[in-house]
Amino acid sequence: MLRTAKCCCQDCAIAVEGEPALNAICHCQSCRRRTGTAFGWSVYFPDDRVIAITGTLMAYTKDGEAGYKRHFCARCGTTLYWKSFGFMADHTGIAGGCFADDSVAAPNMSAQHSSHYDWLSLPADWLHAG
Ligand SMILES: [Zn+2]
Ligand SMILES: [Zn+2]
Repeated sequence: MLRTAKCCCQDCAIAVEGEPALNAICHCQSCRRRTGTAFGWSVYFPDDRVIAITGTLMAYTKDGEAGYKRHFCARCGTTLYWKSFGFMADHTGIAGGCFADDSVAAPNMSAQHSSHYDWLSLPADWLHAG
């Protein structure tokens, strides 16, 4: 199955095939700031399942084992995808909301779970990590 995630202004897109290797939300501060909301939604695909990346993207890097390189639209600023240096380094993380439809299944994991906002209730059957 081919799936395409797009930025807010739709100038940039990333197309992937196959099924996600990991489909999780994360409550860490970096994911909150990346999205400007209560958690990030990250859908990871193996690098070799990334079919096309189009549009003018810029990137910023945080160094180190917990670091990442995040690619965002030069026009609207949406962070569309990223590569983590330590975690799943041979995969590409895509912002789940950028698919903007039901083509990607619901997440099944809550990462940095112990940090989640008290007012947020999550499905009990999700895997809780961190
Ligand atoms: Zn854009
Ligand atoms: Zn996070």
